[in-house]
Amino acid sequence: MTDYAQRMPALFIGHGSPMNTLERNRWTDGWRALGETLPRPRALLVVSAHWHIGATAVTAMANPRTIHDFRGFPPELFAFQYDAPGAPDVAREVAEIARPVPVTLDEGQWGLDHGTWSVLAHLFPEADVPVVQLSIDATKPGSHHLDLGARLAPLREQGVMILGSGNVVHNLALIDWRAGDSGAAWADRFDTDVSALMRERPGDILEAAAHPDFAAAVPTPDHFLPLLTIAGLAAESGEQVRTLFEGRTMGSLSMTSHALGLNG
Ligand code: ZN
Repeated sequence: MTDYAQRMPALFIGHGSPMNTLERNRWTDGWRALGETLPRPRALLVVSAHWHIGATAVTAMANPRTIHDFRGFPPELFAFQYDAPGAPDVAREVAEIARPVPVTLDEGQWGLDHGTWSVLAHLFPEADVPVVQLSIDATKPGSHHLDLGARLAPLREQGVMILGSGNVVHNLALIDWRAGDSGAAWADRFDTDVSALMRERPGDILEAAAHPDFAAAVPTPDHFLPLLTIAGLAAESGEQVRTLFEGRTMGSLSMTSHALGLNG
């Protein structure tokens, strides 16, 4: 039996466009370089912005399928497969640890969506680490997601690396195709202030909802909520959050990531 003496890192990754799966750019180069420094976990537990449903569920199948949950992208992206195994044992542990929050073990509905595989294609390109996804219950308030994140903390001692995949700023209606890797002033402001909150007072992350730029930055909660999982873990452990790959793209997407428990 493997002894997981090392507490696994926890990461929030700003995933951006699904095309990042296939592209090599500033962001994906950063994810690749980060992946080379990460310990090898027993499994990955991923909270993806793209599994935002009316319940808390975990993928519990032995071989989760690759879900192409988007339209209007090239055939190469629809052909992409991320064939990581599942981890039904970890799914059961998640359900146990989340109590009293009821967690549905999903044996066949979902799988791995692009919030997960667009990032893992670079962090773990061999797809040889088992992956479990955890849904975001859209009916629950931010405090619920922060608390649930904190409750997942013991999994990090059991060889499970926890990953939140979303974007701190995510407003598709305000995308500026000419902006390149830059953000509008309001996007820069919100992202920078949220980063400071994550580093200084992650347990107070819900204060972001009172920020003057919140409505523009977070028009829908799905891409922001995975950050709360990592904020909850940070508040629970007291570890210092590190901001990685700080920046914006296409005017209204933040690509900024945050990490807990990285070496060095
Ligand atoms: Zn997304």
